[in-house]
Amino acid sequence: LKRAKSQKKFVLYHHESLNAVKQRFSIETDLRRAIEKEELELHYQPIMDLKSGRVNGFEALARWIHPEQGFISPVDFIPVAEESGLIVPLGRWAMYQAAMTIADWDSQIAFHNMGSAPKIGHADYKISVNLSAIQILRDDVVGAVRDSIFSAGVDGHRLMLELTESAFIDDPDGTLKLLNRLKSENISLAMDDFGTGYSNLAVLQKLPIDVLKIDRSFVTDMGQDKEKNAIVSTILSLAKALDMQTTAEGIETSNIGCALKLLGCTFGQGYHYAKPLKSDEAFQFLSNSFVSDII
Ligand code: C2E
Ligand code: MG
Ligand code: MG
Ligand code: MG
Repeated sequence: LKRAKSQKKFVLYHHESLNAVKQRFSIETDLRRAIEKEELELHYQPIMDLKSGRVNGFEALARWIHPEQGFISPVDFIPVAEESGLIVPLGRWAMYQAAMTIADWDSQIAFHNMGSAPKIGHADYKISVNLSAIQILRDDVVGAVRDSIFSAGVDGHRLMLELTESAFIDDPDGTLKLLNRLKSENISLAMDDFGTGYSNLAVLQKLPIDVLKIDRSFVTDMGQDKEKNAIVSTILSLAKALDMQTTAEGIETSNIGCALKLLGCTFGQGYHYAKPLKSDEAFQFLSNSFVSDII
């Protein structure tokens, strides 16, 4: 508790047991080291174009393999990164890594297509990176994005940033300005976990968002739950009216995938298609998706 500097932090910790507090501090210390030593990895979960059945892109998801504790879920370490400010270097690392991966896969595809094997089709896939509300408050996001796409030599539209409704709570006007600046760099934008947060429809209408991602809490069991089904349909009509594309996250069965396709949802993501994959497996998944189409 002594280390809690602000009143706000004290409030956050004071219900925790001493053990929980100790654990949090050790996660924070270890995470700082993990970022420096590059113990973090990005995994890539395919996002499918529901109409064509092809890969449209991937979501980059951070993974931490701790030397003693093994796998630590982002659900546990991202909040610690946000509270400690470590989300700034972590977020920059993720953006840079994702842009480099696009450049790497593009060159592998170009190299492959010079040979005689069946060609990998024109793959204008995107990679999305999660952007935390704290990064928006504490970092120069436009600068970070420009550094990443320039170093990798990729066009801005190949990189998508996913932000949640919480990014609009503290400074809605500032966030809107940021999105417009990102758009002028040609960056693709998605609203993540849509439907779970603070939704101001008047604000949503003004946002230069390309894709609304429907939160998986509505999608996964929309087959058994009529109300969730109605929420999904409503979000799909809203997106259509606002001229935005849609991604349903958490598709675990082919039935749900088919239903969403019929309802006009643009993209789908979930264990039914693939779990988040290591970089080389994700590249295989991408190549197969395009080659199998030609054979
Ligand atoms: P998210 O951005 O909403 O990412 C989707 C999460 O849903 C991922 O969890 C993914 O593995 C999971 N998922 C995808 N399909 C299914 C499915 O069919 N069923 C189920 N049960 N789950 C599915 P993950 O990788 O554990 O990440 C959790 C959250 O951590 C992410 O939610 C995101 O908010 C955050 N996160 C992960 N990596 C980063 C990062 O690099 N930066 C930031 N700021 N946040 C990150
Ligand atoms: Mg996301
Ligand atoms: Mg999400
Ligand atoms: Mg989510």
